Amino acid sequence: MKKSLDREQLLAVYSILLEHFGHRSWWPAKTRIEICIGAILTQNTSWKNVTQAIANLEKAGLLNAKAILALEDADLADLIRPSGYYNLKAKRLKSLMRFLDENGGPTLRRFEKWGTDNLRKRLLETYGVGAETADSILLYALNRPVFVIDAYTKRITARLGWSHKDASYDELQELFSRRLEPSVDLYNDFHAQFVALGADVCKPKPRCDFCPLKGICPKLL
Ligand code: SF4
Repeated sequence: MKKSLDREQLLAVYSILLEHFGHRSWWPAKTRIEICIGAILTQNTSWKNVTQAIANLEKAGLLNAKAILALEDADLADLIRPSGYYNLKAKRLKSLMRFLDENGGPTLRRFEKWGTDNLRKRLLETYGVGAETADSILLYALNRPVFVIDAYTKRITARLGWSHKDASYDELQELFSRRLEPSVDLYNDFHAQFVALGADVCKPKPRCDFCPLKGICPKLL
């Protein structure tokens, strides 16, 4: 990690992205459970494929934990087929829904009494839930100030010279959480800005000519 990197540099990048893309209002979902469902479905696929799978579940009236748990695995897999790895994701989705339903209740309100560290630990113990999925649920569904790291964040921070390309999830998360005050609103939109930049501009083959960060990115200096 770049040792001289400070809070002001992080916030300067966030400001440029915010001005360019506008506030992202992420995560696109109507309910907390829908966010949790999306957090599983988005594993190893683009968001575009997830929206089709979510639309299938919504059309069938299945965007709640009990309804998903009542489905046969094969029927659930069929509905979420557009998100890819559908047999595996059907099992993961049921496992997460079981944990959420048993512990958080239908609206997840019971989690309000849980500390963030304990909640994260229990999520990570749930089948099919890794760090990115757990943190997406914590930040976007449960309003906990936990910075989410994804493939876009990893790529962009490496290209900005903030980290090395083999940095671990925890190292990247600390890059942000050690320099920024815990803030659900900031962490929410900062991550969403990286999603916007990584999906459309800072792609595996970067489109630097169109990038709002081209004036400060060391790749071009
Ligand atoms: S200038 Fe290019 S490499 Fe740097 S962040 Fe933008 S798209 Fe990525």
